[in-house]
Amino acid sequence: MNDRPEPDHDIGDPSAQWRDYQGAPTGTDIECKGWRQEAALRMLNNNLDPDVGEKPEDLVVYGGTGRAARSWDAYDAIMAELRELDDDETLLVQSGKPVGRFTTHERAPRVLIANSNLVGKWDDWEHFHELEAKGLIMYGQMTAGSWAYIGTQGIIQGTFETLAALADEHYDGDLTGKIVVTGGLGGMGGAQPLAVTMNHGVCIAAEVDEGRIDRRIETGYCMEKTDDLDDAIEKATEAAENGEAYSVGVHINAADMLEGMLDRGFVPDVITDQTSAHDELEGYYPSGYTVEEADQLREEDSDTYVEESLDTMARHVQGILDIQDAGAVAFEYGNNIRGQVKEHRDMQNAFDFPGFVPAYIRPLFCQGKGPFRWAALSGNPEDIHRTDEAVVELFPEKEQLHRWIDLAQEQVEFQGLPSRVCWLGYDTSDAREEHRNGGGRAAEGDEDGLTERARFALRINELVADGEIEAPVVVTRDHLDAGSVASPNRETEAMRDDSDAIADWPILNALLNCAAGADIVSVHDGGGVGIGNALHTNNHVVLDGSELAAEKARRVFTTDPGMGVIRHADAGYDEAIEQAEKSNVAVPMRDRR
Ligand code: NAD
Repeated sequence: MNDRPEPDHDIGDPSAQWRDYQGAPTGTDIECKGWRQEAALRMLNNNLDPDVGEKPEDLVVYGGTGRAARSWDAYDAIMAELRELDDDETLLVQSGKPVGRFTTHERAPRVLIANSNLVGKWDDWEHFHELEAKGLIMYGQMTAGSWAYIGTQGIIQGTFETLAALADEHYDGDLTGKIVVTGGLGGMGGAQPLAVTMNHGVCIAAEVDEGRIDRRIETGYCMEKTDDLDDAIEKATEAAENGEAYSVGVHINAADMLEGMLDRGFVPDVITDQTSAHDELEGYYPSGYTVEEADQLREEDSDTYVEESLDTMARHVQGILDIQDAGAVAFEYGNNIRGQVKEHRDMQNAFDFPGFVPAYIRPLFCQGKGPFRWAALSGNPEDIHRTDEAVVELFPEKEQLHRWIDLAQEQVEFQGLPSRVCWLGYDTSDAREEHRNGGGRAAEGDEDGLTERARFALRINELVADGEIEAPVVVTRDHLDAGSVASPNRETEAMRDDSDAIADWPILNALLNCAAGADIVSVHDGGGVGIGNALHTNNHVVLDGSELAAEKARRVFTTDPGMGVIRHADAGYDEAIEQAEKSNVAVPMRDRR
């Protein structure tokens, strides 16, 4: 099924210039011909900062084998191209390798990226691994290959929001006294313990790789570690009884931990998982092996590895189902573990617990809301603190956002380039007022019709222009966003009109991002749920204080979240139809009814 071909290509030895950089260059002097190219160079190196990426010496950023470049030669070539790239040129990157450079125009993207895409009939891990072994393709995950990863800080707010939404639905808005059990403390999953404690709850997280637990403890994402499940349960129960926030990483395989909990009659309040189950060969660890033993098995006998990995996953999903039956709230956290065991172990009841998007996130997507993120290219944390003030000033009514900014300032350490994430959407309050008063559609670029995202991006641009922020700021987002992804086991699971697998939407989103003038645009296959299971896109806009940046920001941050509104309105979601009406978004067939 997944017998891994012998690689006749390897990524080579880490580049000397990467060793010199050890992260993004910072400050106000640039190596490239303009800030747009410089931003790409800095973001690529930020992904590969040892404090940001999980295994940068292998070019791996996060999420199993999500890479930033195909090989170290390709990395060096991308760096050289970015330094030479003119303000009216566009660089093409195919699965982490630079393959062309054309004269386009100043308003066009500077970099276009396509990662891991295969033609439908060939779109599976087997073909991917064959082509990867020949050095022809790279796994771009989501933000790894699009140079938008900012470390665990990038996912923390999404995890925090998801748990807050869960708490709203099941526990009166708070996780005090509740125990959340999960697995995986990697690049993304590592955010879970902190997101739980920020919601005042208790987290027990299984992780097979002790080094990953240590990393989360060092960076303040997890409080303690143990090898002893009894000890973890005892401390977690005590903390929950006392209403204290507490987190512990348990050095154990997640499937074994869930069975251990069931054997002991311990039932948590919430059960989920963020091991890299989307990739049975290079992401998930089978039970019965240490990490070193499993890594060796993978090298020597990948077929056996995959079989054992899927067997463990089946036990893991059964554990989640049994814990749900015993009374816990269960949800899948975007790693396709249900899809894996349904497809490969014929577990027909695997989808008896929901994915997190239909359960908690879709209403936000209907309003074009998603994880908007920005990074200070200066490297100066003060620049992000100034943007924190700006977002709070701009949205005085958003209490949850204010709470988030306070918590982030207190508890989230910067990794690499100082960055921040918050969920902003399409809402155009002023345009809504105008509509209510009988006005026509607000013209694009009309100050009255600005979306939340555009308003904030324009404010940052002004702060850069005024010198209140030292150097340009890059605004980008996760691929998991309102209108940027087709992923039937995750973002588009159980769509109201059954359009889950239709991938026209992300393609339109990428094309629209180019038309609107984003500075980097990318389209990927795979990502968090594995090859063949999703298509998704990303964009970056560089806010350098110029009028051109303002023009791009106004357009991109209208059209991009606008795709979320029209995609969900088209699928028949009332919240999206209402948002379209409030904000005068054109939905052609509906407008004509
Ligand atoms: P990662 O590869 O950096 O980390 C995965 C971790 O799981 C590793 O530390 C690994 O040691 C551990 N692990 C693997 N198998 C295990 C097992 N059986 N028991 C215990 N630990 C095990 O990946 P990541 O970036 O943290 O992402 C985790 C998963 O979540 C991926 O499938 C990813 O695609 C998905 N994801 C979800 C979201 C989301 O929004 N929910 C976002 C990004 C990624």
